[in-house]
Amino acid sequence: DLRGQVCVISGSTSGIGLALARAAASHGADVVLNGLGDPAEIERTRAGLEASCGVRVRYHAANMMKGDEVADMVAFAKHQLGRLDILVNNAGVQHVEAVETFPTDKWEQILAINLSSTFYATRAAIPIMKAQGRGRIINVASAHGLVASPFKSAYVAAKHGVIGFTKTVALEVARDGVTCNAICPGYVETPLVKQQIADQAKARGISKERVVEDVILAAQPTKQFVTTEQLAGLFLYLASDLGASANGASFSIDGGWTAQ
Ligand code: NAD
Repeated sequence: DLRGQVCVISGSTSGIGLALARAAASHGADVVLNGLGDPAEIERTRAGLEASCGVRVRYHAANMMKGDEVADMVAFAKHQLGRLDILVNNAGVQHVEAVETFPTDKWEQILAINLSSTFYATRAAIPIMKAQGRGRIINVASAHGLVASPFKSAYVAAKHGVIGFTKTVALEVARDGVTCNAICPGYVETPLVKQQIADQAKARGISKERVVEDVILAAQPTKQFVTTEQLAGLFLYLASDLGASANGASFSIDGGWTAQ
């Protein structure tokens, strides 16, 4: 039960972030949505969530590449909704290319959105959470925060960085009622992964079905995509009072991928 709590989720106009926003709202939390997309569609999502869950839902358009905008999103939550209980650093992008030709702009974009935005939002959130005596910081890392795959150097570096950052923050706030943890999903069938499936099919000259079987789910022993509902289950645990002793940890939900 998250009634009376305020939850900010970066990159929540799509995929995992949107699913976590739905989970938070349906358990009674007020939510700040963030992310790119068509303004009319985002407004439909916002208003729909507000109406179906009976909670307050706001949208902040912060670009996760810009530290001042990220900090402003956190301040906006406190200003608009009165508190900040749960921060989910979820926005992320991917680019798949060999390191020797990896473009500098893609490297910088991935490090900024997947890693630095987590720092900017967390730095802004901690004073608010400390003053409340309670807070939850949940970073959406990845199986690629624990292990690597070829051609994803920036993403793997950023996600490993998120896990190191998570541990450090956890130690700093451990006495303040605040926890900081990372969720490490395997493959989830979101727009981010659908794009990769299409790109890989083109690059390898094979069907999308074969990419899913031979490339994507090759790493995942269950041979099943992880679902956003399954991730929401862990999110709700970490956000709850029962999650109070989970701190600085990385939780794999990856169908056994990183057990190998
Ligand atoms: P997605 O593409 O569906 O969603 C990404 C979200 O981030 C969108 O809302 C998008 O608008 C937002 N975003 C992108 N750039 C932004 C920017 N500059 N400023 C603000 N928002 C921005 O992808 P997803 O699969 O839901 O990914 C969510 C997170 O989960 C990412 O951190 C990703 O790395 C991680 N993840 C995904 C998978 C997977 O298989 N899908 C697996 C492990 C980890």
